[in-house]
Amino acid sequence: MSEPSAVEELAALTVTLKRHLQRRQRAGLAYLPKAAPIPSKTVTVSETPSLLAGTELDMLADTNAALSAESLEDLRANIGDCQRCKLCAGRTNIVFGVGNPRAKLMFVGEGPGRDEDLKGEPFVGRAGQLLTDIITKGMGLKREDVYICNVVKCRPPENRNPEPDEVAACEPFLKKQIDIVRPKIIVGLGKFAVQTLLNSKVAISKLRGNWASYHGIKLMPTFHPAYLLRNPADKKLVWEDIKLVIKEMQGEDA
Ligand code: URA
Repeated sequence: MSEPSAVEELAALTVTLKRHLQRRQRAGLAYLPKAAPIPSKTVTVSETPSLLAGTELDMLADTNAALSAESLEDLRANIGDCQRCKLCAGRTNIVFGVGNPRAKLMFVGEGPGRDEDLKGEPFVGRAGQLLTDIITKGMGLKREDVYICNVVKCRPPENRNPEPDEVAACEPFLKKQIDIVRPKIIVGLGKFAVQTLLNSKVAISKLRGNWASYHGIKLMPTFHPAYLLRNPADKKLVWEDIKLVIKEMQGEDA
C-alpha cells in the first residue's frame, strides 16, 4: 500500500478533529479544555487510527477501559484529565475521594463545592466540617478510617445540582470505587447520592432512616450535611440514622 500524501493525511486529520468536536458538542461541552502540559517524555502515537476515534462508542470504550482498574490509585490514574462531561470546563481539581481504601464505612455525597474543588478533597468546606464532626465526635472514628467520595467528581458551576448527563458520565467511577473498597456499610448523603445509588426517585425524607441495599451492601440514606446547615432542627434525625449505623457496625465487629 502506498504512503498517504500530505493532503490525504491532512484530510484524515480534519475528519478526526471534526468528529471529536462533534462528540464534545453532543456531550454538551461548549469549550475546549485548557491546554494539557506538553509531556516531557516522548509519547508514541499509534500509526493505525482507531475506527471508533471521535465517536460516542469511543468515549464508552474509554470509560470501560478506565474501569479495568483494580485499585483506587489505578482508577484515579485511568480517569486522567477527564473530559467526559461538561463539568470539566469549570473545575480546578477532580475530587476523586479520600480515606481508607479498605474502609468498612463509606460516605457518598453529591459533588464538590468551591472548597473541595480548590483543594481536590471531598467534604472540606462548612458542610464537610459537619460531616467530620459526625464521623469523629458522633461515631468516634477518624476521617482516615472511612472512605469519602461523591457522585460527581467535578464541581457543578455555582454549586447547582449535577445534571443527568453529568451523573451518567461519572456514575461508573463511583460504582467502581464502591466495588474496589467493598465497604460493609454506605451512608448516602442527600437526595442525589441516595437516588443515584438506589436508582430511585423516592424523596430523601421518605428514604432516610431506613436500611436499603446497594448490590448487597447495607445503605443508610440520610440528609446531606449542607441541608443540615440550613435546617439545624433536622440534625436530630441524622443522629438517629447515624446511631443505626453505629449499631450495625458494632454487629459487624462482633
Ligand atoms: N457537598 C458534597 O456533596 N460533597 C462535597 O464534597 C462537599 C459538599
